[in-house]
Amino acid sequence: MYDDDDTPTCPHCEGPARVTFFDGSFLDDSDGEMLVFGVPGLWCGSCREVSTPRDLLEQLGLSGVPASMLIESDAAARAQAFPQ
Ligand SMILES: [Zn+2]
Repeated sequence: MYDDDDTPTCPHCEGPARVTFFDGSFLDDSDGEMLVFGVPGLWCGSCREVSTPRDLLEQLGLSGVPASMLIESDAAARAQAFPQ
């Protein structure tokens, strides 16, 4: 886990954020949806914003593409609920 000095900062509100993984769907140009799984990102509980690395989204061809849904991945949620 992170101590105070290593806590990531939310780029939207500069509050403390949590590193986790997301599954989600993005709208593509052909009115379809592209599903992605296990995308790393930051979750901010204060402003309820998700931030994902811009270079990763570019690699996936999703830069500037609106997400229709993002949920915390089941594996990440399970790891948080049942830490080892
Ligand atoms: Zn925030």
